Amino acid sequence: MSFKPANSIQDLQYFGEFGGVNPSISDSSTYTFLSAKTMFDTFEGNADGCYLYSRHSSPSNLYLGAALAAMEHTETANVTASGMGAITSVMLQLCNAGDHIISSRTIYGGTYAFFKNFIPKFNIETSFVDITKLDVVEAAITKNTKVIYCESVSNPLLEVADIKNLAKIAKKHGLKLVVDNTFSPLSISPAILGADVVIHSLTKFINGSSDTVGGVVCGSQEFINALRNVNDGACMLLGATMDSLRASSILKNLRTLHIRMQQHSKNGMFLAEKFEAEGLKTVYPGLKSHPSHQLFKNMMNTEYGFGGMLTIDVGSLNKANALMELMQHKNLGYLAVSLGFYKTLFSAPGTSTSSEIPEEEQKQMGLSDGLIRFSIGLDADIERTYGVMRKCMLEIGVLKA
Ligand SMILES: *Cc1c(COP(=O)(O)O)cnc(C)c1O
Repeated sequence: MSFKPANSIQDLQYFGEFGGVNPSISDSSTYTFLSAKTMFDTFEGNADGCYLYSRHSSPSNLYLGAALAAMEHTETANVTASGMGAITSVMLQLCNAGDHIISSRTIYGGTYAFFKNFIPKFNIETSFVDITKLDVVEAAITKNTKVIYCESVSNPLLEVADIKNLAKIAKKHGLKLVVDNTFSPLSISPAILGADVVIHSLTKFINGSSDTVGGVVCGSQEFINALRNVNDGACMLLGATMDSLRASSILKNLRTLHIRMQQHSKNGMFLAEKFEAEGLKTVYPGLKSHPSHQLFKNMMNTEYGFGGMLTIDVGSLNKANALMELMQHKNLGYLAVSLGFYKTLFSAPGTSTSSEIPEEEQKQMGLSDGLIRFSIGLDADIERTYGVMRKCMLEIGVLKA
């Protein structure tokens, strides 16, 4: 099946109250009912189309959720106040005290910290494994395991998860496969490959303008209903709700995601090839040298490319810091965490976004001191960008003349 996620987004039509080409923003926290009976039914979850209170759902949030569900080819979706709001709600919904999670060991630092430091207080244990080794994943399953958790393309090492085969393992053992697809929107469609739940931090590529945090959970109607249940739903009760104004602005940005991803990928591929040719240790899923290049190719929706994330290893933290400062000085991008902005962003994950991971474990997973993570921007003239970057690298001694 050849799935066209951008078509699915484009084909949705919503109009505003007065025929506006964008849906009206529902600027209300609460909603009136004509009859008390309907209010009661809504609380019981039996009044389709009625709104109750905006922590539960709001028209603006449902519009954005519908578009993201269309993109991920799931029945429905629920938007949240942040990516972490989505991840923590999903895991607390799926796991009870005594349950066990198998997680990739290379994941977003906040998710790692949640599994390692926070969720054990509810007696939920996590085994961190090399997700690229399917036999290791299967061997880690215990009678208490509930969830296999991974990122399609991992942060920051850009390991690629074999979603199809992980889904097979999950099905065989009655587990849920939860995939964070933040690094590869449009490029990879985890639900098509068998994932049960797909999560995004909307903060990154999907919104793309570094002006808000947001998240989404895409899944079955049954699961999303459970998350929103007024009596025991994690999204409803933990309260990580997106604001309607934000939902409407993210929806407008989502409409250009396909163009932006193509440009991020084009620029990412260009720089990765140049860096590698210069002899820099470069990791980018689009390079043949990437251990999971073929796997990514087999999974991808080809027209969106291999994404905008790449890493280089410049040998030491001092060199990494000097290079990043110089590149910022030359206006090549910003020394900042996060990703998916129009401008290139760079950071040293070991001392920033992955600093939650203890040094010893960073070493084991191959997260070295000199690693720089790039989120490649939408630069119109990437050759010029490369020329200036190369000069910076020569000046810092990362490249030899
Ligand atoms: C940023 C990020 C998150 C967390 O999202 P927030 O919106 O910052 O809460 C989760 N997963 C990945 C892969 C991320 O990059």
